[in-house]
Amino acid sequence: MDYLEVEGAREYVARLDHGADWRGQIEAFADDEGIDAAFFYGLGAVQDARLMFYDQDDQEYEPIEFDEPLEVVPAVGNVSWLEGERFAHTHVTLSRADGSVVAGHLDSATTFAGELYVREFDAKLERAHDETTDLDLWPL
Ligand code: ZN
Repeated sequence: MDYLEVEGAREYVARLDHGADWRGQIEAFADDEGIDAAFFYGLGAVQDARLMFYDQDDQEYEPIEFDEPLEVVPAVGNVSWLEGERFAHTHVTLSRADGSVVAGHLDSATTFAGELYVREFDAKLERAHDETTDLDLWPL
């Protein structure tokens, strides 16, 4: 395991905008505030969702689309740099009206309502290609 000691910096709470993309809003916020490394938690609801499952054998992401109202219970993720842009790596557990859940790596989702807590770190994290997994990981 590689690791890096970081110091906590600014903290935020935020309300996500109705009708806007869940992940895109976090990235735009990170751009606005100049956040180069952070972790976040969020909860709320979305009107649809596109998850991506990483096939470890094929080393490809497979999309999974949901076109229905879902509760975000919760979202968790981090902000770092990927290919010259801030990227909000986001995982979600999403629940349906009957209480069943789907979950995974979030690509996009239309926000119904959302609340976010963000903890910035005094570091700049930048993802780099990892040969073993073919993923973009932190070279710590
Ligand atoms: Zn992921």
